[in-house]
Amino acid sequence: MTTVYTVDSIPGDGIGREVVPAAIRCIDEVARIEGFEVTWRERDWGSDRYLADGAMMPADGIDQLADGDGIFLGAVGQPGIPDHVTLWGLLIPIRRSFMQYVNLRPVRLLPGVEARVSGAEKLDAVVVRENVEGEYSEIGGRAYDGRPEGMAIQQSVFTHAGVSRVAEFAADLAVRRSGRLISATKSNGILHAMPFWDEVVEETVSRSGTVELESVLIDALAARVVLRPDSIDVIVASNLFGDILSDLLAAVAGSIGVAPSANLNPPREHPSMFEPVHGSAPDIAGKGIANPVGQMWAGALMLEHLGEEQAAKRLVIAFEAALADGIRTADLAGTASTLDFTEAVIERLRSAA
Ligand code: ATP
Ligand code: MG
Repeated sequence: MTTVYTVDSIPGDGIGREVVPAAIRCIDEVARIEGFEVTWRERDWGSDRYLADGAMMPADGIDQLADGDGIFLGAVGQPGIPDHVTLWGLLIPIRRSFMQYVNLRPVRLLPGVEARVSGAEKLDAVVVRENVEGEYSEIGGRAYDGRPEGMAIQQSVFTHAGVSRVAEFAADLAVRRSGRLISATKSNGILHAMPFWDEVVEETVSRSGTVELESVLIDALAARVVLRPDSIDVIVASNLFGDILSDLLAAVAGSIGVAPSANLNPPREHPSMFEPVHGSAPDIAGKGIANPVGQMWAGALMLEHLGEEQAAKRLVIAFEAALADGIRTADLAGTASTLDFTEAVIERLRSAA
């Protein structure tokens, strides 16, 4: 019997509506080659819906996604709509309702992408970012606004369970890669949360036995990303540090158009969400020139998560081959359109099958 996966696709806004269909064509092609099927449930959620109805998604949107095998998101956001509307109206409810506590961001220099710093040619790293707690909490407040004694207090939340589950995920990943794990910390300056982070990470990682753990202060780690990018393999970091590090690494690796991101619920009790790192790119939307690689790579992460490792590999090999053959979109100094690039990937998938 053929395996059928049900995936909710949310193309969203701007170039999301161009790169999601492009990636779906490629995923359907690898599925055909590997002998499984994906049933896509397309959702027209996003800014247009917000402008018409006052909400990015329906009130029961989360329930509609709950029984699916995955969520394939393009990008949401458009000029004139504040970021917190898109974040709190769609992204954060999905991440939190489905306990997507790991944000996974692989970074690698792809063929045809120019290295920004020396050593980046050999860059091949993964950032495991804690995705539901830490510094991004709603606890805190402001007092005496507009007065000289004005103040804001923002509390971080680090729980034993929260730190330990993300550390465990990172340690498992490290075992499957180089066996080395870097934990980003700041225990010399942040006196409660970060020593706690260090203790729980150490305790969790030591249970995995073989992983070599290195705790590095976030400032030194940021410098190391730029100075010795090839010395980094797997990084585990809190919500804020992980956010900054993954953008920094992506910048070192070249173009924003190629970077993917997975919001994972590792126990697989709920669907996970896969998206490119880039946003809706209103400046190039509708022109058919967006780079679909970030979305395709996000698709490969989704296939891997679904257990279709062979299909994931095929897809990555195919878009890397197209890039290596010089088929590149304008952001990579090429002349290919989104469609040209997509056709090139499909051609390579077929000829490798
Ligand atoms: P958002 O608020 O949705 O994050 P943004 O404008 O802050 O949007 P991006 O949408 O990521 O950020 O765009 C940043 C820049 O990178 C823009 O100039 C955009 O055109 C370019 N860019 C982003 N993604 C791509 C892509 N896939 N292909 C080509 N260029 C891209
Ligand atoms: Mg942005």
